[in-house]
Amino acid sequence: MSERNILRDAVYGAVIGDALGVPYEFEKRGSFVCTRMRGYGTHNQKPGTWSDDSSMLLATCRSLKDNNGRVDTEDMKQRFRDWLLDAKYTAGGSVFDAGITTTDAILRGKGSSEERSQGNGSLMRILPLAFTDCSDDEIREVSALTHAHPNCMEACVIYVHLARACIMGKDLRTCVHQLELTAPFHRLAGIDALGEDEIQSSGYVVHTLEAALWCVLNTDSFAECLMKAVNLGDDTDTTACVAGGLAGILYPIEDLPQDWYEKIRNKELIDACLV
Ligand SMILES: [Mg+2]
Repeated sequence: MSERNILRDAVYGAVIGDALGVPYEFEKRGSFVCTRMRGYGTHNQKPGTWSDDSSMLLATCRSLKDNNGRVDTEDMKQRFRDWLLDAKYTAGGSVFDAGITTTDAILRGKGSSEERSQGNGSLMRILPLAFTDCSDDEIREVSALTHAHPNCMEACVIYVHLARACIMGKDLRTCVHQLELTAPFHRLAGIDALGEDEIQSSGYVVHTLEAALWCVLNTDSFAECLMKAVNLGDDTDTTACVAGGLAGILYPIEDLPQDWYEKIRNKELIDACLV
């Protein structure tokens, strides 16, 4: 039996979560039910189309791959420009879902630290750093390429640490329960015990991190986790992308319905970004 490629499963988990959520982005919780890989809807894209979340995650992956696992923020910055301006790292040759904070940051050359810039646009792409031994400051620098607010940078550090723990085979629930964090991250340690009505799934970075962990910890399978994340509504693709990255470390891709994987567009590009 060949050894499991956890990076591949994690990246595909994130991409498949993103693609499942794309048709429902901005839809209210309870107004729809995601049960399969469908297309069209919010962005009118074919089934299996993944969005900005995956594009920037893959650009990050490719940068690490081409730099032997070393963080090179200038290189990442250039690749983000290649995505935004030239539609590289896309599912179908177009950029259809770029966030305002991210777009401004890429055009300006650095991320904002303003109070209103606390979106999930760096958290959604930070997963590949869990597969390196980079420092917390490097994680913050990579976040700051688009999102320099301390809460965005801290969310990335927390997520990468939890992902690394899962890669090492530690129990995610135990690791989450052991978190000792101050506001706005104070709810994370007990997040699994909260009810769905206490979980928000907006584009605010704290909501996304909470919702993603809540989905992973309140489901027993890969598919159930991704569907739960999408079905929370609102920022469906990003919540499912962030949850899917962790779920892909915990579960092998073969656990998902085969047609979800098969429908994913431009797998050649995804595979070329993997080690
Ligand atoms: Mg998106």
